[in-house]
Amino acid sequence: MDNASPDSSGGDRQPIFRKIPGMQSIKTRILVFTLVATIIPALTLGSLSYIQTTRFLNEKIEQGLRDIASQSSRELDLWIKERLYDVRVFSSSYIVSENLAKILHHRGARLENLVAQNMLQDYLHSVRQKFTDYRELMILDLNGNLLATSMPGASPPNLPSNWQDSVRLKEPVVGNVYFDPLLKERVMLIADPILAPNNELLGVLGAKLAAAAVDQVLADHAQAEIDDLLMIDRRGKLMASSRPSARTASTAPIKAVPNGKLFAHPGDPITYTAPGGTTVIGTLQIVPSLGWGIVAETNRQKAFARIDHLRKLTLIIVAGLLAGLGLCAYLLGLTIVRPLRRLSEGAAQVAAGNLDIDLPVRSRSEVGFLTQVFNHMVARLRHGREELDSVNQTLQEKNKALHRLSITDDLTGLYNRKHLMETLSGEVIRSGRHRHPFTLLMIDIDHFKQVNDTHGHPRGDEVLCRLAAVFRETIRDCDYVARYGGEEFIVLLTEIEPHTSMEAAERIRRRCAQETILSSDASINVTVSIGAAFFPGDGDTPRKLIQEADRALYDAKKDGRNKVRQAADRKRTDRDSGPIRLVEKN
Ligand code: GH3
Ligand code: MG
Ligand code: MG
Repeated sequence: MDNASPDSSGGDRQPIFRKIPGMQSIKTRILVFTLVATIIPALTLGSLSYIQTTRFLNEKIEQGLRDIASQSSRELDLWIKERLYDVRVFSSSYIVSENLAKILHHRGARLENLVAQNMLQDYLHSVRQKFTDYRELMILDLNGNLLATSMPGASPPNLPSNWQDSVRLKEPVVGNVYFDPLLKERVMLIADPILAPNNELLGVLGAKLAAAAVDQVLADHAQAEIDDLLMIDRRGKLMASSRPSARTASTAPIKAVPNGKLFAHPGDPITYTAPGGTTVIGTLQIVPSLGWGIVAETNRQKAFARIDHLRKLTLIIVAGLLAGLGLCAYLLGLTIVRPLRRLSEGAAQVAAGNLDIDLPVRSRSEVGFLTQVFNHMVARLRHGREELDSVNQTLQEKNKALHRLSITDDLTGLYNRKHLMETLSGEVIRSGRHRHPFTLLMIDIDHFKQVNDTHGHPRGDEVLCRLAAVFRETIRDCDYVARYGGEEFIVLLTEIEPHTSMEAAERIRRRCAQETILSSDASINVTVSIGAAFFPGDGDTPRKLIQEADRALYDAKKDGRNKVRQAADRKRTDRDSGPIRLVEKN
């Protein structure tokens, strides 16, 4: 039973999907269910996996930057300390302090000064030759005046503004990286106070350290996963880079590096736009000896390429999964729906009376089994109907045979009296309606009793049969003959005028008289007497017609037999009281 209609209490108990257009189809339901059942876990798992992997990759990138920055800052710190130690060793040499003291204490003694200056110059030159990272070594007095240099004629050093404070505290001085026009390269000034043996402050030994050496230290620690390793001062000015050509070609401060943020959160990944417009992620670590920062920088897009790839891959997998499962669900729907549709169409045809159905069984599933059962059921119905048809046919044949028997005379095969009476009634009505005349002939065999007596009853039967055949042969197809009883017969001549029917009656009488019935022991000749009554002149009912014909027959017998008489003759005779008019004999 289909309970799809709302119940009488007003409550709508239809499942929710029946209210949605298009959801009545099993195929659509399977498709929707599969997609929903796929989308939710696929999207959930996909996004969880994406979030987890993104977080993991982010952490990995950040950790990588942090590690490189802190390792490089440690290494650079150590390297700078070594360089400061170098300069301290150079400045601690007795050659330096002794000759500087001479210059300072013998101001005016020109020759001695010159000798001391030469000594210093030679010393600086020899050191410079041994330590090639130092492009120029020089000795300055406490006012910053150049007293000796390894490279005469060189430009004065670019000392930081507070250098004298550091010197007074007997601490090393570290200057900014700048471009030296004479050396034609970037240098970084480092200096150390020169002390006399009595610890008196004499001057300063400065060294122009090639910035390329700092770049090289950075380059040595820059790893494949990062784009650049920078050294910046507190104001964000670029001091050195693992890729010097990219940024250090310019002496202008690098403003793109958000030094404030970087110095405020050392170790944290900061995203900013590098010169050139690329977005980068940078992490800063402070170099303790300088107070500057080492920034490990990587191209954001490159770093996140794997995440982007992962996102695309996740989307492709989810989309592929959906498409694949959608297709599977669609095909599954088809495999279920098609046989079901075939079954329902088949059932509709059976309901319409077509039992010549044999549905194809294409699977061993429940639907396949149902199809088999359906075919079997239809086959049984078909078999039952065939049996019923055959029984019906037999019954019909038997009915026909019974009917034939019921209207046929056993002996002669002519229609019997019952059938005669029905036919005559019908003919009276039909001819009356159409105003057509017909003639009823009553035929009686003359002296038939004698035939029986002489030749025996079986011979008499033979005569009856033979004469029945003569009647059939003599009348037209549209005429009718029946055995009225005993040796009496009635012929109905239809659509015929009285005078023509009398000729037919005469022809019958003549044919009977001519007929000789032969048997092994005898040849029998008989005659017949015939009484004729015309419709509607002699009577317009079966009873009246038979009565009139019987009377005419009686007249024929009375007139000597082997005669044809008509009812009209008797009436005329009755009326005229004259002799009976005989039908002309052959
Ligand atoms: P007519 O009619 O010329 O006056 O003389 P009839 O000898 O024919 O007289 P009636 O009509 O009295 O006799 C009819 C006879 O027909 C009587 C009966 O024995 C015989 N008869 C009736 N039915 C059959 C039948 O089925 N078979 C045979 N063999 N004889 C029959
Ligand atoms: Mg008779
Ligand atoms: Mg008779």
